[in-house]
Amino acid sequence: MLKWLIPSGYAPSVLALNPPALAAEGIQGLILDLDNTVVAWNASAPTEPVRRWIDRVRETGVRMCIVSNNFSSRTQAIGRALNVPVVAAAVKPIPWGFRRAMALMGTRAEHTALIGDQVFTDILGGNLLGVRTILVEPLSEQEFPTTRLVRRLERLIRARVVQLAARRH
Ligand SMILES: [Mg+2]
Repeated sequence: MLKWLIPSGYAPSVLALNPPALAAEGIQGLILDLDNTVVAWNASAPTEPVRRWIDRVRETGVRMCIVSNNFSSRTQAIGRALNVPVVAAAVKPIPWGFRRAMALMGTRAEHTALIGDQVFTDILGGNLLGVRTILVEPLSEQEFPTTRLVRRLERLIRARVVQLAARRH
């Protein structure tokens, strides 16, 4: 079970990832989690540094798609603001939403990376699908109430997971 929870890589935030380096590693498409990865939980707009980062990804020719379990109009509005397509109500970790994202980007799993802040939805789902998975720290402490229960369990294994990912890198 543990191997499905271990990300291929780890970064403190998306901003710590260098878009040209991702492209140089063969990444053609990037699946992005929304809440606490691209924006703070329930934030209505991305910060300026995140906007610039998204633009830099675009400039490298890497395609992007936001995949969120959220289904609010806010989710679509952020996608429009960033000019990135959104797959909402994705039911992660079930890989349906990630498959849809890869279809939209026209990428195969081996050329796709996923960036997300949650082990049990983002990382597990991405690993099940065989894409490269990059765990980031959540942008804010706040999150959907049901998630908080999962977080408690996640904290128990997170340190171990990050340690293993660092060793694998
Ligand atoms: Mg998230």
